[in-house]
Amino acid sequence: MKVAIMGAGLSGLACAITLEKNGISPTIYEKGSRVGDRFVNGEVLLDILNRPIDDCIADLSNRYGIYLKPTSTIQSMELFSKNEKAKIEGHLGFTNIRGRNQDSFESQLERQTKSTIHFNSEYTFEQLRTEYTHVVMATGDGAYASEHKNFKEDLSVSIKGATVEGTFDPNRVMAWIDYDVSPYGYCYLIPYSEKETNVSLAIPDLPENADVNISDLWDRFYSNIQSQLKQELPITDRFQITRYPMGICLSPRIGNTFYVGNCLGTMMPFMGFGQYPSILSGIYAAYDLCGIDNYEELMKPVRQSYENSLVLRRSLEKLSNEGLDRMIRSLQGYLGEKLFQTKSIDPVKLASYVLRPVLNMTKE
Ligand SMILES: Cc1cc2nc3c(=O)[nH]c(=O)nc-3n(C[C@H](O)[C@H](O)[C@H](O)COP(=O)(O)OP(=O)(O)OC[C@H]3O[C@@H](n4cnc5c(N)ncnc54)[C@H](O)[C@@H]3O)c2cc1C
Repeated sequence: MKVAIMGAGLSGLACAITLEKNGISPTIYEKGSRVGDRFVNGEVLLDILNRPIDDCIADLSNRYGIYLKPTSTIQSMELFSKNEKAKIEGHLGFTNIRGRNQDSFESQLERQTKSTIHFNSEYTFEQLRTEYTHVVMATGDGAYASEHKNFKEDLSVSIKGATVEGTFDPNRVMAWIDYDVSPYGYCYLIPYSEKETNVSLAIPDLPENADVNISDLWDRFYSNIQSQLKQELPITDRFQITRYPMGICLSPRIGNTFYVGNCLGTMMPFMGFGQYPSILSGIYAAYDLCGIDNYEELMKPVRQSYENSLVLRRSLEKLSNEGLDRMIRSLQGYLGEKLFQTKSIDPVKLASYVLRPVLNMTKE
């Protein structure tokens, strides 16, 4: 068996590590000149979005032998709508760095891989398919899956973000969901350290947002957070992503081609989270390649999570700022604590079951 992995990101590297543990040495082809060859940004692993798992980092190490060191634990999350605020406390998850940084998750995974990585790769899927018996598509988007007529695109998002300097609590993340600032989208602050943080704004590319200028929105958000945090926040780095497609493959595997990570559709439409399911998809594809388990079966819960998350996204698009105020108000206090801290409750699943009939969406 000769396995090629296209893409040295979270899912591709997790796949390689798992294959190696089971005696298969894949060859990895990476478009960039190094692992994490992209902008730096802060991301989170939130326990509440990965139920029934209540600690993704421990789960990856205990069950799969994949070791990741996050930047920090999240002990406090502050959620703001236009007029309301909810503060949730407890062990809520982890923050981590991505991209061109020696501590980024992809850099950490690279250090656990022995497989050869060919950088600056211009290999196409067709070339890899000719030379290898199996190809794992881990390119971080649905472009190839779309070409293969295997991708259902549900939405796209545009994101503008920056690294800023200031004074921050590394254990506290903040999110704003105010449609005057980010119409149908959201903004967030994820610290890298006590001195640096990532601040980003994301909006879906809905027809309602056709005339919206993301740079104007960003300027307003940037000015708002400086007032709210009572600090000047000099920008040291910036990034912008335009029309990033979110969707899911119709088949996780076609013949001897496996689609993993965002190539498969592990980025969840509700708020764009996808790190943990991306890593899992790489591990599960490797299990199938090693004859340990069946990839399509293993991915069923992830596919279901995607569909549940899509219901929540569609519901958010129907809310006004008044509705968002009510939602945030209801998260303050007992309900918020219960939702975030009861390990047996999967709020995304629960909410999607309640909302699906309201939105006239059928269950997949
Ligand atoms: C701005 C932003 C913020 C996010 N925030 C969060 C968050 O807070 N929490 C969370 O859980 N998720 C978050 N996500 C989603 C998460 O980052 C992704 O779901 C995850 O990185 C997907 O992993 P992957 O392996 O599919 O892709 P990646 O990790 O992106 O890796 C893809 C790799 O493939 C390479 N590649 C691309 N094309 C080719 C080619 N043709 N040939 C060879 N190599 C190629 C790329 O260079 C890259 O190295 C965020 C995403 C974005 C964009």
